[in-house]
Amino acid sequence: MSDTNQEWIDLRSDTVTQPSEAMRAAMAAASVGDDVYADDPSVNRLQEYAAELFGFEAGLFAPSGTQTNLIALMTHCARGDEYLVGQEAHTYKYEGGGAAVLGSIQPQPIANQADGSIALADIEAYIKPDDMHFARTRLLALENTIGGRVLPQDYVKAATSLAHSRGLATHLDGARIANAAVRNGISLRAAVQGFDTVSVCLSKGLGAPVGSVLLGPRAFIEQGKRWRKMLGGGMRQAGVLAAAAQYALEHNVERLAEDHDNAAALARGLAQIAALKVGTPQTNIFWLDIPAAACAPLREALAAARIRATVGPRMRLVTHLDVSAADVARTVDVFTDFFAQWREQ
Ligand SMILES: *Cc1c(COP(=O)(O)O)cnc(C)c1O
Repeated sequence: MSDTNQEWIDLRSDTVTQPSEAMRAAMAAASVGDDVYADDPSVNRLQEYAAELFGFEAGLFAPSGTQTNLIALMTHCARGDEYLVGQEAHTYKYEGGGAAVLGSIQPQPIANQADGSIALADIEAYIKPDDMHFARTRLLALENTIGGRVLPQDYVKAATSLAHSRGLATHLDGARIANAAVRNGISLRAAVQGFDTVSVCLSKGLGAPVGSVLLGPRAFIEQGKRWRKMLGGGMRQAGVLAAAAQYALEHNVERLAEDHDNAAALARGLAQIAALKVGTPQTNIFWLDIPAAACAPLREALAAARIRATVGPRMRLVTHLDVSAADVARTVDVFTDFFAQWREQ
């Protein structure tokens, strides 16, 4: 039964998290300055802290991961260059074609394997010879996690070594790299080993309201800062946002394990329902298949039970710091009740 006093459970994405009281207190207390003049102490502190945490020389705070990825692509690649990227990758598929549109960079998309990797043989095969007919292959971009899957660490090592041995640079879209590190039980530094540059989202599972950080060599970050300004990412008293991001990095990394446990419990509960085909989560994101005819009524049943989810024949569910174990149990109950009475027409 729906209870109108119940809080909404939001399983659409880990971007929906609300800043906690403690995070808001850190934001309120932040010292600020004009970050375009590099005068914001909170932004400077965050950039240095993140660089140190992940083992890079320098960091650059920007409003979104789309922007930190684009800054990275535009700094690695010039007009007429290309980057190798997975067909399912965010930088290729979900960033509006920004590399091509704004960077004059040609993407060379390559099919992702079932585990989210790009086959080493495919990387080899798509590196173009030095010939005026071809775009210049400059960069390999990987994503970890990708669709909630963690790239195997030995694969990351092999792929980045291969790229470097062929003269390519390497960029990691590490929007959820902290999830990958926690899942593998390795440090953040170990998880980004082999990459020249990394983009990290602070506004996903880490729980900050806004922002991503680009990490790399100092000279690269200096060049990236020019692109950030051109792209409209030069913020002024951004320290209020950086303070939230700082709080997120200091407090919300290890607890990602709870999100992974909650996703596993949710998947186990839903797997008991005969009509569903449920994937096994590695982190906080997993996919399930539901009968197409059930989509519309399920959407209604979830809304009536105050559960937000993007319902479709192949749907994604995401746990995060505002989804508790009790929320998982309630969600399983609502799905179970719905499918107990639902029959395909
Ligand atoms: C969310 C995300 C980004 C960046 O998204 P923004 O919404 O622009 O911050 C980049 N890559 C991946 C894999 C993501 O999930």
